[in-house]
Amino acid sequence: MNTQLFDRAESACELCRSSDELAAFEPQPSRSQDLGDRALLCALCKAQCAPDAELDTNHLHCLHESAWSQVAAVQVLAYRLLSRLNEGWAQELRDQLYIEEEVLEWAKNGLNEGNEEIELVRDSNGTALNSGDSVTLIKDLDVKGTSFTAKRGTTVKNIRLSDDPGHIEGRVNGVTIMLKTEFLKKL
Ligand SMILES: [Zn+2]
Repeated sequence: MNTQLFDRAESACELCRSSDELAAFEPQPSRSQDLGDRALLCALCKAQCAPDAELDTNHLHCLHESAWSQVAAVQVLAYRLLSRLNEGWAQELRDQLYIEEEVLEWAKNGLNEGNEEIELVRDSNGTALNSGDSVTLIKDLDVKGTSFTAKRGTTVKNIRLSDDPGHIEGRVNGVTIMLKTEFLKKL
């Protein structure tokens, strides 16, 4: 397997053509055992492919050439690196590439991995809320199952997050109720 890979890559990094510490690299999530789903990378390019790596823009100008590779794994890595580079040329190059739909899907899959957004609970201003925070109501709220209205300006201390990012739990008038986060402001 590795001999074939070195042959295909002509014993050079398939992104930058360096011959420094070459090793086979499989873009995640792993797709198949096929040779086309692996790339031969130098140590530097391999490090750049880690999802949280700080990108070396100068080095990645090598993508101008290698992004046009016919090898799926190389296309995927190039696509991801170009997407992560915050540079006009990188976006342009990425948009010019012709990548098979299946491969593109693979490229995009891995791009979101590791930085999957955890849905934050936010107040009416978009400020993140955490358990233990205090909030104030920005609107009079009828409290379901009770006869009282929680008045605008009421402070609710020591809130608890619930399973639903749209609601938090808090005590008003001694009763624990669910409050809609869109009617709250963090104190
Ligand atoms: Zn390289």
